[in-house]
Amino acid sequence: MSAKIIDGNEISASVRAEVKVEADELRARGIEPCLAVMLVGEDPASRVYVGMKEKKCAEVGIRNIDARLPADTSQEEILALLDEWNADPSIHGILVQLPLPDQVDEKTVTERILPEKDVDGFHPVNVGRMSGGDTTAFRPCTPHGVQVMLKHIDWDPSGKHAVIVGRSNIVGRPMATILSQKEPWANATVTVAHSRSEDLAGICRLADLLIVAVGRPESVTGDMVRDGAVVIDVGVNRVDDPTTEKGYRLVGDVAFDEAKEKASWITPVPGGVGPMTIAMLLKNTVTAAGRMAGSD
Ligand code: NDP
Repeated sequence: MSAKIIDGNEISASVRAEVKVEADELRARGIEPCLAVMLVGEDPASRVYVGMKEKKCAEVGIRNIDARLPADTSQEEILALLDEWNADPSIHGILVQLPLPDQVDEKTVTERILPEKDVDGFHPVNVGRMSGGDTTAFRPCTPHGVQVMLKHIDWDPSGKHAVIVGRSNIVGRPMATILSQKEPWANATVTVAHSRSEDLAGICRLADLLIVAVGRPESVTGDMVRDGAVVIDVGVNRVDDPTTEKGYRLVGDVAFDEAKEKASWITPVPGGVGPMTIAMLLKNTVTAAGRMAGSD
């Protein structure tokens, strides 16, 4: 079997088109959706992510406020700017790009953002509401994007066994929460595997839906994929490749060429989950703007 490709570029474009319609409707009512983004330090990957987020905001008509702060910015300065943004009614979404420098506590910063402006879905209020089954809580963008991908290919996880490899707070754990919800495009039986799991290969082979977010290049191999499984590769890793102009190429956490011979559907890297994450951030931002305007 050679798997069908789940095209994250195409699916994310359709999400962004919907967001643009919502943003246009808000603007017609005098509300300009606005996302404020804070980047502290010079981390090259973070700079690329923030640049992409700003570009995509502009394409869908979301105004962008951008604070690029030096790496030695104190936690007090960061919190003071967040307080300003929280109090500013023209700002609807706030995002602080992680990771933060060592002198800054990520938990303190995340918790300072007003839950109704927390478009990353990392604030404990949103995490708690989502865990309690509240479908209106902002969902973390990457796992929410995966759920939207499944809907787009019309693959319903209801009753199926989903195995998630990785238990981070931004991907694995919220992915498990979302897929086990009692709601459409969820209702899965969920197993969460991690670095302490025994017989990871055996666990993966039980999966109808295998979602991998470990941050180790091509660590899930073809023999770990059940025939006909849907494989979602969240990983983005740079591996050296002197044959390319940049000297590296991007690969996922799944050995794509092997896995695609077993799977029924599979996401590529790049062009899979990555573009969905930004699309869902934009979606959360227009949702936040609509709620603040009292229309949602
Ligand atoms: P983290 O490092 O926070 O978490 C990795 C998880 O994988 C941990 O739970 C860890 O287990 C587990 N793990 C590590 N090694 C193994 C192993 N050998 N076997 C089983 N489990 C293992 O990573 P993130 O969740 O933040 O990111 C994961 C990947 O997804 C990265 O490549 C990242 O770049 C990518 N990513 C992509 C996004 C996108 O938009 N496409 C967005 C976010 C992330 P333990 O808890 O026991 O340590």
